[in-house]
Amino acid sequence: MRQKIVAGNWKMNNDKDATKKLIKQLRKSTKKLSLKNTRVIVAPTFVNLSAAIKRAKKSKIEVVAQNMHQAKNGAFTGEISAEMLKSIGVKTVILGHSERRTYFGETDALLAEKVNAVLENKLETIFCFGELLEDRKSENHFAVVESQLKNGLFHLEASAWKHIVLAYEPVWAIGTGETASPEQAQEMHAFIRSIIEKQYNKDVADNVSILYGGSVKPANAEEIFSKPDVDGGLIGGAALKAEDFTAIIKAI
Ligand code: PEP
Repeated sequence: MRQKIVAGNWKMNNDKDATKKLIKQLRKSTKKLSLKNTRVIVAPTFVNLSAAIKRAKKSKIEVVAQNMHQAKNGAFTGEISAEMLKSIGVKTVILGHSERRTYFGETDALLAEKVNAVLENKLETIFCFGELLEDRKSENHFAVVESQLKNGLFHLEASAWKHIVLAYEPVWAIGTGETASPEQAQEMHAFIRSIIEKQYNKDVADNVSILYGGSVKPANAEEIFSKPDVDGGLIGGAALKAEDFTAIIKAI
């Protein structure tokens, strides 16, 4: 059975004190929630991962990384490897966020390498993808999403998919306050499941969690999450406030 997931991407926000404070608030606010088959995830910046992991111990909160380098080690100044993340207790890595694709030139081919490195290291990935505004306007959004999945993930064996979580994030809805309508999200998620079924089988398609990301807030979370193929959300701005993030968790 696929899992429900609410994941907060903190991006380049929160210093060490703010990280500890937010984890403490979320520990408290999630303590009494019954989270059956539901995961709560936060992704602080690399430098605060250890502090966050320490503060989240024995709580309902999982701490994951926002990115990772594809190489095992070597002369890659400023980069972080899977082994390094594993050594501090990270089990999951977000890959392919649109900000990584846009500002850091991450291509589908590079992301396929990163996915391979994640799996070789027995980690899990939350793999992000989604179309630009011009793709949607030109009604190219299904083709763009299909090619992102094909190029980034469809080289994998079916058995690898238990370590993959998908996050469909239309770029035009990220940090813009503009959200895909619940119907648009459902339509795309159903399409994603259909192409996975075609490439693999129904079992893989039915069991992969597909999160929606793009201006999810307490006010719209419940409606988006009510759609049958939406298994949760990847949350940016609203994940930085304990109250808002908790309300979104409750919405699921
Ligand atoms: C994101 O960055 O993944 C995201 C969805 O951001 P926001 O919720 O702020 O749109």
